[in-house]
Order: sequence, then structure tokens, then C-alpha cells
Amino acid sequence: MKCRRCREPAVIELRRHNAGFCRDCFLHHSREQVRKAIDDFDMLHAGDRVLVAVSGGKDSLALWDILLDLGYAADGLYLGLGIGEYSEESATYTRAFAAKRGARLVEVDIPGEYGFDIPTGARVAKRAPCSACGLSKRHLFNRAAIDGGYDVIATGHNLDDEAAVLFGNTLRWNVDYLSRQRPVLPAEAGFVKKVKPLVRLGEREMAAYCVLTGIDYIVEECPMAVGNKHLGYKEALNGIEEHSPGAKAAFYFEFLDKAAHRFDAAAVGEAEVELRTCSSCGAPTTGEVCAFCKLVARAT
Ligand code: SF4
Ligand SMILES: [Zn+2]
Ligand SMILES: [Zn+2]
Repeated sequence: MKCRRCREPAVIELRRHNAGFCRDCFLHHSREQVRKAIDDFDMLHAGDRVLVAVSGGKDSLALWDILLDLGYAADGLYLGLGIGEYSEESATYTRAFAAKRGARLVEVDIPGEYGFDIPTGARVAKRAPCSACGLSKRHLFNRAAIDGGYDVIATGHNLDDEAAVLFGNTLRWNVDYLSRQRPVLPAEAGFVKKVKPLVRLGEREMAAYCVLTGIDYIVEECPMAVGNKHLGYKEALNGIEEHSPGAKAAFYFEFLDKAAHRFDAAAVGEAEVELRTCSSCGAPTTGEVCAFCKLVARAT
């Protein structure tokens, strides 16, 4: 197979695009897909200070790399979750990448700064690990972005992630989640803007990007992900994609185009939730104390 762009031998075939690419043209294609997502969804503007949430995995490191290549002022944010060897290793990959690119990495260590690790915190607070982890990440990403004066938080969710979340939310018709499933969540009182610039690239493309650019990343999944429903949804979608290349992208992008607006709070007749300020940390919350401060109180 020949490269679609330069006719040299291809190193990767992308059935969704019905095309093959050589190394350089594939890297060009990846950057262009990110640039297109940024433009189409008005994610970033010139001069924005971007904080990239990095986990040491392929997606977030590739995203950081591409944003730097595209000329954005992008710093990394690494959260130490205290998940044993997995956390130690993922921190090592993240620091090595930052050093190699000469990029600034902000680190927040949950055990060191808040006195609990995610597995213990989840157990004591009687939450699923991914639920305790997810709420901690949302809270701490936002806090770090505000403290550091960043305009936007970028996360490495790719097309496979977003299609799997959409699939899960559609199976159960979780309308409030469907209303928030956008590649951009605008800034609102106390919340920094959040963007997902990898939505036009799949998991396999991100792994290929790292291999072809020599980015070392942690290959093992987080041990807490075992039994996670999203892995099953991804497999199911991969099965469909196998027989019908492009189905995953159509499912997600047609949703954004034709259906997402139907789930807005106003469209489903829900009143806007009124936010107040957490009496303990000052973060926006619906109750007296925010979910993260409650977790810290129960876990320590
Ligand atoms: S799999 Fe769950 S616990 Fe592990 S990093 Fe992801 S959200 Fe956190
Ligand atoms: Zn080429
Ligand atoms: Zn709080």
C-alpha cells in the first residue's frame, strides 16, 4: 500500500479514512486532525495558556507533544494517585517526556498533599475507585488550572474513549451525561474551560503516533480499570468498526451534530443547577461542602 499523500510505501493503514500513510505523512495527518478539532470546536486561541492533564499514557503524552508542535504554550499537569507501582511508573514516563521536550510539568501528589491514596480513599468512602478517582481529577485539574492562571485544561480523550462513553450513556439514556458529552466544556463560574483535542484520532492512531515519534509511555492499564464497563463498550464498538469502518466516528460526530443539543438542560426541561461555594475549599459545588472535600474528610 502507498501513502495517500506522497505515494511512498505506507507504514500504517487507516481504514476509516480508506488510506495509508508513510511515517511523516501520518504525523502530519495526526497534527492536522488535532488542528481541525481545535478549529471546528473553537477549543483554543492563540496566546491561551494550556494545561494538559498527563497520565504517562500514550494519549496524553501524544496530545502534549502535538500541542507543543502546533506552537501552543502548553504545560503538563500530573496527578499522583497513589496507585502503587502503576503510579510510580506513570510518573517516571511523564517526567522523562517533559525533560526530553524541555516542557514544564506541574505535579500534584494526592497522598503527599491530601493524606490518602485513591484505592484506600475509595474503600473508606465506599465509592468505586474510578468514581473517587474521577471526582478527585476533576477537582484537582480545575484547582491547578485556577492556581496557575491557565485559560484551558486539555485532556487526552480520543475518539474511542468518547464513542465508548457515548455508547454507555446512550444504552442507559443518561440524559444529564449526554448533555455534557461535548469536546468543549466552556468556562463557567469557578470552572476553567475544558477541551478534548484528540476526538478526531483513534486509540490505534495514538499508539502509532508514540511509536513513530519515539515517545515512551506506560503501556499497562491502570489496575483499577479491571471490570470497568467502558472497556466492554470499546470492545463492542471495535467489533462493529471491524465490519463497518467509520461507524465509530459517525456515531460520535453525528451525535454532536444532530442530537447533542436535544439534551441541553433547557431542552429536557431541567432547571439550571444553582452553584454555591464549598465552605471548606471555595470550589463551586451544589451543596455546602464539595464532593472532593467530603472524600478527603472520609478518607483521612
Ligand atoms: S482506571 Fe479508574 S482509578 Fe485508574 S486512573 Fe482511570 S479513573 Fe483513575
Ligand atoms: Zn507520505
Ligand atoms: Zn471543597
